[in-house]
Amino acid sequence: MQEPITNKASSTARAAVDNQNIAEHITPPLIAEGTVKARDWVKTIIKQDQIDRYLDEKGGDFIDHPLLESLVSGIDQAWISNLDGSGQTEPSIERVREILEKSKNIKSLDLAEASVLMSVRNPDTWEEMKQTAFAIKKKVYDNRIVTFAPLYLSNRCVNSCTYCGFRQENSGMLRRRVGLDEVRRETQALTRDFGHKRLVVVFGEHPDSDVNYMVNAIDTIYSVQVPTRKGHANIRRVNVNAAPMSIERLSQLKEVGMGTYQVFQETYHRPTFERVHPKGTLKGDYRWRLYCMHRAMDAGIDDVGIGALFGLYDWRYEVLGLISHSRELEKRYNGIGAHTISFPRLEPASNAPELEDKTWQVDDQTFLRIITLLRLCVPYTGLICTARESAAIRNAAVGRGITQMDASTRIGLGAYSERRGAGEQDIEKQQFLLGDNRSLEELIGELADMGHITSFCTAGYRVGRTGDRIMRMLRDCTEGSLCKLNAIITFREWVDDFASDAVKAKCEALIQREFAEAKNKLPQFMPKFEPMYQKTIHGCRDLYL
Ligand code: SAM
Ligand code: SF4
Repeated sequence: MQEPITNKASSTARAAVDNQNIAEHITPPLIAEGTVKARDWVKTIIKQDQIDRYLDEKGGDFIDHPLLESLVSGIDQAWISNLDGSGQTEPSIERVREILEKSKNIKSLDLAEASVLMSVRNPDTWEEMKQTAFAIKKKVYDNRIVTFAPLYLSNRCVNSCTYCGFRQENSGMLRRRVGLDEVRRETQALTRDFGHKRLVVVFGEHPDSDVNYMVNAIDTIYSVQVPTRKGHANIRRVNVNAAPMSIERLSQLKEVGMGTYQVFQETYHRPTFERVHPKGTLKGDYRWRLYCMHRAMDAGIDDVGIGALFGLYDWRYEVLGLISHSRELEKRYNGIGAHTISFPRLEPASNAPELEDKTWQVDDQTFLRIITLLRLCVPYTGLICTARESAAIRNAAVGRGITQMDASTRIGLGAYSERRGAGEQDIEKQQFLLGDNRSLEELIGELADMGHITSFCTAGYRVGRTGDRIMRMLRDCTEGSLCKLNAIITFREWVDDFASDAVKAKCEALIQREFAEAKNKLPQFMPKFEPMYQKTIHGCRDLYL
């Protein structure tokens, strides 16, 4: 790893000044309760030396802003095609196919190659790219879609992101943190009533939901076990979507058994970042966020999820930013890049001024093309498409190679145990509005109709298939075999414990097909797999290879 390039004493002094400015930003009565505590607390968050050590020799970032800008304007001005040598405004199909060949070999694309694909306009070429993207997903991940639920635990926030309903200036938002008893009730509801086994817990950035609270909440979630029709259920993997933290705080999350650590950069375009995250807020520090996955890796967390919030700036810049981020992590951390990429689009939120500006709004066709591009550019990376999107868009996204979807989603605090109905959304109580209200069962049924098996498998990180091991397996396309078998076992559990008669029939047919295929393609695993499958039928739970 690179040594810090700045003098430690001076960077610490600068951090002290910045932290003081951030503390001043927290203005009563916006977060009346705990305001004083929040002012002191924010001063402890950013550690300047845990930014500086990751900068390049010239003190610069891995996001090469001039290069990204020139690639984006090049796409518009068709100089790409001149570089390409074809002299046309469209890259030649030969060049596109050459690049697709690299993706098919599960190699990530560089920025210039990504730009060539982005400059394609011909619909037939896009169709070919889409089909290639889907074939790559099948090669790396087979026909599995992993499912999870988000669990919002706190909506207090010291930040002022102009697009978010939780920003501190939004006095219309009912603020609270979910107590540990309620965390338990939410987990019981998620496991018993909704049939989930994987969560991503989500927090605003606030002393009330600092790392100690996160640790207690995760511990509580893992401790819950509920009886089911044929066995029992529990949450087996808790991912975290929270603000950037120091290496020390991240180590605490690793210790408690966090799955993936997710932080979205929102926008890689620094001027936009600084516009939508006002100066003087914790989130206003572009670099503290940009290097949070470096810190996570240094804290021993080798399973990280990056993302960009589409609609803040030019989508092409953000795609190039995501590729740059992934490649930077791979370069520095022994080939371990982002395990997942998220690509939310801006959704309606309460009192969020940014939403009035539609300059960079991403339409549906472009959104689906972004997914195609990401699958082609980082072929082995998981792609998450959340219920922010409508059911129709998410179904189409499956055909572009996404790997993870949430379902039965509620993002109001306490909404699972209150049994709030799927359509009962309240913009004053949640971060933004959702587009897909399908239940887990509805989603599973529709995916089954489309030939996909929903996987609840969480074996990977529990048997140490994370970090460079999982990345190697994904690149070699060997990950699919074990995960396929674990998908069948966990799907069996879900069908026996939760499926209604209406959905059961199509799930059974899918299991039979998957079983036959596994027997045929993976005979070497059958002696271990078949007894596990039989035990699962008889009510044993949480068996995996
Ligand atoms: N507060 C932490 C943070 O900002 O990193 C935790 C995550 S925040 C609760 C989850 C994510 O929601 C953000 O990273 C952002 O990308 C997304 N988000 C915020 N406002 C949104 C909106 N109006 N529409 C869609 N996504 C939004
Ligand atoms: Fe707070 Fe996160 Fe919302 Fe920004 S996006 S206001 S940091 S919850």
